[in-house]
Amino acid sequence: MSLKEYVINSLMNATSDGIVIVDLNGVVLDVNTKFEELHGWTREEVIGQVLPMTPDEYKEDAFRLYQSLINGEPIKNFETMKLRKDGSSFYANVTVSPVKNTDGLVIGFVGVERDISEKKKAEEDLLEREKQFRKLLKLNPEPIALHKDGIIQFVNDACCKLFGGASSDEFKGKSIYEFFCPNDRNLIVARLQQVMHSEMDSYSEFIERKMRKLDGTFFDVEISSIYVYKNLGFPVVQSVIRDLTERKKSEETMIRSEKLALIGQLAAGIAHDIRNPLTSLKGFVQLLKYKNTDYVDVMMEELEHINYVVNEFMMLAKPHLSHYIESRAIELVQSVISFLQPHALLYNVQIQLEMDPDISVITCIPDQIKQVLINVLKNAIESMDSGGLIQISCRNRMNQDLIICVKDQGVGISEEMLAQLGEPFFTTKANGTGLGLMVCKRIVEGHGGKLSIQSQISQGTTVEIALPIINSRYRI
Ligand code: ADP
Ligand code: MG
Repeated sequence: MSLKEYVINSLMNATSDGIVIVDLNGVVLDVNTKFEELHGWTREEVIGQVLPMTPDEYKEDAFRLYQSLINGEPIKNFETMKLRKDGSSFYANVTVSPVKNTDGLVIGFVGVERDISEKKKAEEDLLEREKQFRKLLKLNPEPIALHKDGIIQFVNDACCKLFGGASSDEFKGKSIYEFFCPNDRNLIVARLQQVMHSEMDSYSEFIERKMRKLDGTFFDVEISSIYVYKNLGFPVVQSVIRDLTERKKSEETMIRSEKLALIGQLAAGIAHDIRNPLTSLKGFVQLLKYKNTDYVDVMMEELEHINYVVNEFMMLAKPHLSHYIESRAIELVQSVISFLQPHALLYNVQIQLEMDPDISVITCIPDQIKQVLINVLKNAIESMDSGGLIQISCRNRMNQDLIICVKDQGVGISEEMLAQLGEPFFTTKANGTGLGLMVCKRIVEGHGGKLSIQSQISQGTTVEIALPIINSRYRI
């Protein structure tokens, strides 16, 4: 071998790539050791041969490339399959350069092959994992939406079904804000901002909102978001949206049945209250037979009272729409007190009311707040077997909350019992439902407020109800 041949030889084998030199007809002129390793052929076996190095399904590709090679264009980093002697194949990254003579004519080609099976396998594994992950996400029974900058990228089957879509494509590209009430936009933007700036993997708490289905109807959901996949290179927010329709329905049923139980329990006192004026009316009417008109005013008053009590009773019994409206707190409290007056009389209980002068309106569902007050006041009355005083106070706390305190001098509640209050069906009364306080808590919390109880055995109990004056949570 000449020195030049030695140099070429050592250069050919200094590289970790397989090298093959062919003439214009594809006849192999030389290969290096790595090529022998990669393909399993020895140098002697291939020189002078046109080798079937390309699997059938890649022949077309190879032919196209050959055409462009002839035209003098090199092939760089082309990924394809290559055959081994034993018929198996491997992924290769191929670079082919034309070899030209001094006249610039192409006389042959040098092919450089790199085995990229490992890399390909890693890529395939990643793809497979992504596929599995998408499948998991798609079939997850929790409704999930992925969105980026407020634009929906993906919704899973459960989410698509929840919003009444036929296919998830109906959601892709839409703004998530379309699915909220316009008034909620700022809140949702703020929450998403917060999620994006929080630690990875930290969920925002579930909040209850109304969302809109594709057909335009609103329904109750709870929604929580998390900023995910930062590391995968496509950062998106994943929101889990749970349907609350059923839960709301059963909550409403519970509130209503507790209300009906209340009415039943109060019926005795109310009947009593109606009977008394009726008796006097009867007397006056009898007197009217003999004298003229003097008692008519009193009669009218009594009649009006009956009217009022019966009306309140009917109002309470009727199922009402749960709409938030601005209501005068004073009127709510006063109407509940006069409604419960007969019940208080039955127990020999006096009710005292103290009001801050600057209490105006609160945004609430008046019917529900009345129900809370009736429950709490009724409990207070019933805690005083031998009579006593109930002090009710209404304060305005920093123009933010309305604080209603109901303080009795009753038997009080032990610490163990206090821990059990708010659990359903916990009652110490023969005709009690044990749902009263639980329903009260639900209603108050539904208004964004808080109900707390303090009590001392034999001293009495104080129930504090704090209600936000401006209730932003549910205003639509
Ligand atoms: P119910 O009134 O139907 O029993 P509640 O949920 O309203 O159901 O009250 C549960 C229990 O809590 C009552 O049975 C009573 O033992 C206790 N309780 C509630 N309020 C008071 C109070 N002001 N003083 C003493 N005990 C109370
Ligand atoms: Mg009760």
